[in-house]
Amino acid sequence: MAKSKGKKAKKQDKEWRLKPKTLEIHGGGTLADVDLRPSVHRVTAFSMGSFDRARKLFAGEERGFIYSRINNPTVDRLERRLASLEGAEAALATSSGMSAIQLLSMYLAHSGGHIVSSNRLYGGVFHLFRDMLPKLGISVTFVENPYDINAWKKAHRPNTKFFHVENPSNPVIDVFDMKELAATAHSFGKLLVVDSTLATPALLQPLKQGADVVVHSLSKFYGNGEVIGGAVLGKKELIDDLRLTWFRDGGPCMSPDNAAVFLSHAESLFGRMKEHCKNAVAVANFLARHRKVKKVLYPSFGPRARAAKRLMPKGFGGLMAFEVKGGAKEARMVLESLKLFWHAPNIGESRSLVIHPATTTHGQMLSKELAKAGISPATLRLSIGREDPLDLIYDLGQALDKI
Ligand code: PLP
Repeated sequence: MAKSKGKKAKKQDKEWRLKPKTLEIHGGGTLADVDLRPSVHRVTAFSMGSFDRARKLFAGEERGFIYSRINNPTVDRLERRLASLEGAEAALATSSGMSAIQLLSMYLAHSGGHIVSSNRLYGGVFHLFRDMLPKLGISVTFVENPYDINAWKKAHRPNTKFFHVENPSNPVIDVFDMKELAATAHSFGKLLVVDSTLATPALLQPLKQGADVVVHSLSKFYGNGEVIGGAVLGKKELIDDLRLTWFRDGGPCMSPDNAAVFLSHAESLFGRMKEHCKNAVAVANFLARHRKVKKVLYPSFGPRARAAKRLMPKGFGGLMAFEVKGGAKEARMVLESLKLFWHAPNIGESRSLVIHPATTTHGQMLSKELAKAGISPATLRLSIGREDPLDLIYDLGQALDKI
């Protein structure tokens, strides 16, 4: 970049803010990134240079690469891209979505802290909150009607450290009001943490709506289901402190190979999300009219449709669920009759996927907890891919006809 610039050029630079679609390719880039495509820095440790520099790096007084458990050039490049897409000051890439949530919970709520969480969660997170964190002395209160803001307020305690919400939620696709939740958390002086895995920054940027921290499972839409990874995003001070404490000594780092895969898929995120949304709407409309379907769980239907549209105007993403008429037997029949949908426990791939949440992804929840979270034995979860939606509809139609 030229060193001395005229006033006009400087003003132009200030006004030129890259659009989101450009950020997915260029976001977070610096002039130090000499490779068009990220090189994979498959290395454990970096040369310290001098005695003094080593001390400063370890003390966090100087920024630089130390050891790939703490930071790595390929992972750093991904972190800059993620932060720019999310509108965050900084990002920390982790080995998985679960490690991001576990790490953040321990960091924020250690030594007897309390979490107020929506009960509409991916089963693994529910289990972490219900069974695992309490073993470490961290307690969690689940809000059983997360649409009721007073229920969040009632669940607050003096030792609450943060409010946690998955938005939209897996698998029933609840869409909550981030601004309202952030205002409620802040009224108690607490943080709002949002798991934005299903939205991705292509559809929502919770930090811009008042959330304090965003977590992602990158293993889903972000990475097109190719490899496992996660991220924590927020203020630089929090991310830097997290990196040099629980992250550095806990070790849930992302491999540089995976970071390169995520960087590559980030370049197509917005276009892919658009296709997922469009296909999901087509499939949801078909299912809503089908006589063997009791209920479609997608935000374009039901009493909350208008609110959901206001909260997610760019679309609701590619995940949905539906209840077949009957019970687990009928759901199984449909699942086993699908030909194009892969039977797999993931979300956000180009190929469409199906699973029975009550016995798999959410199998750690008790029957009554499942019922309260809106999941029945007849619920099937679909991750709608990017195939021609007519083929997906044909496949679902022939499978439903088997009942
Ligand atoms: N958050 C949500 C909403 C998820 O759906 C999942 C996994 O399904 C996770 C977190 C955990 O992510 P990972 O599988 O990358 O650990």
